[in-house]
Amino acid sequence: MSQETYSDRDRSFALAKRTHDLIRDYGPSATPRAYAVWYAYVSGELPLLSDAVKRLTAQNGCLTEADIDDLHESYLDGRRLASATGEISRVVLSEIAAITEILDLSLGSTAQYGESLRGLAQDLAQGLPNRARLGEIVSTLVSTTREVAVNNRVLEARMRETRSEIETLREKLEATRLESLTDALTGLSNRKHFEETLKATLEAARGRAVPMSLIILDIDFFKRFNDLYGHLTGDQVLRLVAIVMRENAGKDAHLARFGGEEFGIVLPGTDRAAARQVAETVRTSVMGRELVKRSTGESLGKVTVSLGIAVYRQGDTPASLMERADLCMFAAKRGGRNRAVDDTAEALSQVA
Ligand code: GH3
Ligand code: MG
Ligand code: MG
Repeated sequence: MSQETYSDRDRSFALAKRTHDLIRDYGPSATPRAYAVWYAYVSGELPLLSDAVKRLTAQNGCLTEADIDDLHESYLDGRRLASATGEISRVVLSEIAAITEILDLSLGSTAQYGESLRGLAQDLAQGLPNRARLGEIVSTLVSTTREVAVNNRVLEARMRETRSEIETLREKLEATRLESLTDALTGLSNRKHFEETLKATLEAARGRAVPMSLIILDIDFFKRFNDLYGHLTGDQVLRLVAIVMRENAGKDAHLARFGGEEFGIVLPGTDRAAARQVAETVRTSVMGRELVKRSTGESLGKVTVSLGIAVYRQGDTPASLMERADLCMFAAKRGGRNRAVDDTAEALSQVA
C-alpha cells in the first residue's frame, strides 16, 4: 500500500473521530443523518453547510433533530439532485451519439450514391456503353437512389423522435433545477437559493448604491402549537405563513423558508421605512388569519410572528446582514413577540 493511501486512511479515521466527538458534544444523537451532516461539516467540503452549522451552534449551543433534518434536506439532498442532473446529461449524450451514428449511415449511402454517379459519368466519357452495361448502371442508380430516399425518411423520423426526447429531457432538467432551489413544503425558495439571492442583491446594492433590506421571520411559540395540534397541522401553518408572505411582501420580494419555522425576505431597492412597512403588513396579516382545521371545522386560534429587519450598510456581507436581522428577530422575541424590530439603536433599545 502506498504512503498516500495510508495518509488518506489516517485522514478518514481522524474525520470520523472528530465527527463522533462533535455529535457527542453538540448532539442531537448518533443517527445516520446526524453523522452525515457532521461528517460533511468536519470535512469542510460544503462551506454553506459549515456556515449554517456554525450559526446554529453559536445560536443554540447544540443541534436539534429538526436542525439535522433541515441541514440534511438543504445541503445533502442536493447531491441527489446533482446526480439526477448527471444522469440526464448522460442520456442526452447517448442520444447525440445515436444521431451521429445515423448521420454517418446517411453520409455513407450518399457517398455510395455519388460513386455510382461517378461510375456512370466515367463509362459515358469512354464512349457510349453497350446496352447491357447501361442497364446495369441504371439499375444500380435506381436502387441506390431508393436506398438513399429510404434512409433519409428513417433519418427524418428518427430525428423527430430524438428531438422530442431531447425536449422532454430539457423540461426534466429544468424541473430538477427548480426542485433544487425550492422548499418542498411551502414552494418558497430554499436556503441555498436564498443565500445566492441575498449575495446577488447585496452586490447590486453595493455596486449601484441603492438600498436593500433583509427580514427574518420566526413563528411565535410554534413548538407549543405543534405539541398541541400535531406536526401535520403545524406544516399547514407553515404553508399558510408562506401564502400570507406571498400576498403581502410585494412583487420584488424574494421569499424563502430556511427550514424549520424560520423564513427570510430579501427586499431589493428597499429602504428602512419601506422594509418596516413590509414587515408590519406581513405581521398583521398573519395575526389576522384565523386557523381552522379543514377536516373538523375546529378553530385553532391564531399564530403570530416575530420579525427582525436589517437594512444594508456600507461594508455589509450576507453574513453580517443575517446576523443583524437575527439579532433583531431575537430582540422582538424578548420584547414580547408579535412585533418587528429593525436594526437601529432606538428600535433595539425599546425592546432591550
Ligand atoms: P419562539 O416563539 O421562541 O420562536 O418559540 P418556538 O416554540 O417557535 O421556537 P423553538 O425554536 O423552540 O421551536 C421551533 C419548533 O418548530 C420546533 C419544532 O417543533 C417546530 N418545527 C421545526 N420545523 C418544523 C417543520 O418543518 N414542521 C413542523 N410542523 N414543525 C416544525
Ligand atoms: Mg425558530
Ligand atoms: Mg419560533
